[in-house]
Amino acid sequence: MTNTTPTFFGHPKGLQTLFFTEMWERFSYYGMRAILILFMTTPSTKGGLGLGVADAGAIYGIYTSMVYLACLPGGWIADRFIGQRQATLVGGCIIMCGHIVLALPNITYFYTGLALLVIGTGLLKPNISSMVGRLYSESDQRRDAGYSLYYMGINIGAFASPLVCGWLGQGVYFREILSGLGINPINAWHFSFGAAAVGMALGLLHYIYGKSTLIKIGDPPGASSFSLRMCLMTLGVCLIVAWIYSLSDVHLSPSQFGNVFGLILLGTTIAFFVWLLGSSWNIAEDRRRVIKILLLFLAATVFWSLFEQGGSTLTLFAERNTSRTILGITFPASWMQSLNPLFIIFLLGPAFTWLWFKLGSKGPNTTTKFVIGLLLISMGYGVMIGAAIIADSGKLVSPLWLVVMYLLHTMGEMCLSPVGLSAMSKLAPQRIASLTMGIWFLASSIGSYAGGRVAGLYEAMPLTHIFMALTILGLVSTIILSFSRRFINADTEPKQ
Ligand code: GLU
Ligand code: ASP
Repeated sequence: MTNTTPTFFGHPKGLQTLFFTEMWERFSYYGMRAILILFMTTPSTKGGLGLGVADAGAIYGIYTSMVYLACLPGGWIADRFIGQRQATLVGGCIIMCGHIVLALPNITYFYTGLALLVIGTGLLKPNISSMVGRLYSESDQRRDAGYSLYYMGINIGAFASPLVCGWLGQGVYFREILSGLGINPINAWHFSFGAAAVGMALGLLHYIYGKSTLIKIGDPPGASSFSLRMCLMTLGVCLIVAWIYSLSDVHLSPSQFGNVFGLILLGTTIAFFVWLLGSSWNIAEDRRRVIKILLLFLAATVFWSLFEQGGSTLTLFAERNTSRTILGITFPASWMQSLNPLFIIFLLGPAFTWLWFKLGSKGPNTTTKFVIGLLLISMGYGVMIGAAIIADSGKLVSPLWLVVMYLLHTMGEMCLSPVGLSAMSKLAPQRIASLTMGIWFLASSIGSYAGGRVAGLYEAMPLTHIFMALTILGLVSTIILSFSRRFINADTEPKQ
């Protein structure tokens, strides 16, 4: 087994391959995400799409939400047909094509590029993550440390890309270079998307080069014709719906489309939980466990709704309401998105690992970590109310407001994100064990959708009201969850 010959910081060599592949994939994802809302809201005379903030927020919300939803069929396709190894490769290629399409300076291709990114990420993200676990045998103690290392890779990619893509897309200096080369500087945005494509290409090269380190990891299973039929039928239905829509007179604006999408997302989620609660469970205890999962799901949804404002509302705030000139140098708004991964790599990742280790069994239990996570993220928005009061009076605020807010948000992430999925898995009755990953992704998906839609209110409401509403939402959820703690804890903590 590979785990007897540690070669990457004491871990199987395959981890090196997955670490760098995912690092570059996240480079491409977060680089593109860093400039997406800014690109959409920039007037077309300056190379952007010239969309209103409501439409841009809707597109941002639908795109990021779909990315998480696509992880469900992506994981399923790998499990049933092609295996994780192959799915990661195919997904990476599709992502690279998506970024290349976005790099073409033609607006027609914009939606095609986003669709490719959704499909590609759906195939890559869940499968590369599950391959990390497969590098270790059941009893291997290094698994958690392996995931922590892998998480650092994610954040190195997420740290570097807003800097690179932001500089290319928005930087004054790069625009001067383009002018010098006789290229219209308003095309700078597309160089930024191009950089994301290069990032993914580097990830793919790493993956292909390191193929031999992943032998027997994520092999394809025997395909069942029933599943294949289901897959083809779903694809067929999607194509027919798209075809009917293109022929019909109904043409929805992005905001209207966002409303329809939101209703479907909400309806499906409610129907899913009603079905889950109404199912005939053998023992009453199982129904109680489903209620606990629902509570954690709601808490995670609120958390991600607040957290995912990072690429949308908070990026608009950095662009429009923050003074970004330090020592005479103006930096792009998207750079603020590097703060979260920066804190994780150099400060909070190591600090929290140390803290949990030091506290040992005296440390907070899983639900308490959720409560602290929610509290911290609400506090972050509480801080932003102060910034919004200044901004609403028409002044630019210091970037330090956002620095403090991101610090609190990232501390919240450190509490909730690493334990969320495993808490839900511990609660899940055996019969729905395989659904927990899906429930976790659904929370991120709804959170991302909300992240975009709230940004759509940017010009419709005073900023103070937006940040106050977000703070109150976070605080109310914190209070409700802290009252439910005893009820949930019984099943998430090891029995004494
Ligand atoms: N930021 C991490 C990543 O991109 C986790 C995201 C999440 O769980 O929503 O992989
Ligand atoms: N911290 C996030 C993740 O772990 C990255 C980000 O939001 O930039 O990947």
